[in-house]
Amino acid sequence: MMVAAAQPRPRRRAVFVDRDGTLMPDLHYLARPEAAELARGVGDALRLFHQHDYLVVCVTNQSGVGRGLFPEETVHEIHRRLNTRLRSYGAHIDAFYYCPHRPEENCECRKPGTALFRRASEDWAIDFPSSAIVGDRLADVEAGTRLGLFTILVPEVGHEALVDRELAERGMKPDVRASSFGAAAAAVLHRG
Ligand SMILES: [Mg+2]
Ligand SMILES: [Zn+2]
Repeated sequence: MMVAAAQPRPRRRAVFVDRDGTLMPDLHYLARPEAAELARGVGDALRLFHQHDYLVVCVTNQSGVGRGLFPEETVHEIHRRLNTRLRSYGAHIDAFYYCPHRPEENCECRKPGTALFRRASEDWAIDFPSSAIVGDRLADVEAGTRLGLFTILVPEVGHEALVDRELAERGMKPDVRASSFGAAAAAVLHRG
């Protein structure tokens, strides 16, 4: 009797995107979902990612939960709102992964930890070498570097010098430094 071999699942590529300071302005421990708005250029860029067969996965540190500043439900509400906003661009975020811990807890999921990325990779069969990360801070570049992702830094306006200092102190360098989310998207798509 023939036994059908399990078909290997094809690996997919993804663009991992940071949330605060990248998908939306960094409003620091945002507890009011109604204040969450997409940053400029994000809607069109995410639509392009999907058109080029990238999954879009948001990985975000939300220590405000662990600090007791807002409940996990608030995080979910903000994520639902971002996806509602994206709908008018014909775009969406496939999945959100967040770390609720405080830095002192030394968890493995807070960026630059890579646990959430590895979980996403298992959940969605994501191939890291053909995937990218777009973020505004050192932690995004560092996590991406550890995982072998194509790393794109888009510092928030006004924070460029701070981010440069952080990177220099850690001896880190992104593959691309972009001045807008749209420029970051172009770099991802240009890579092929
Ligand atoms: Mg950020
Ligand atoms: Zn964590």
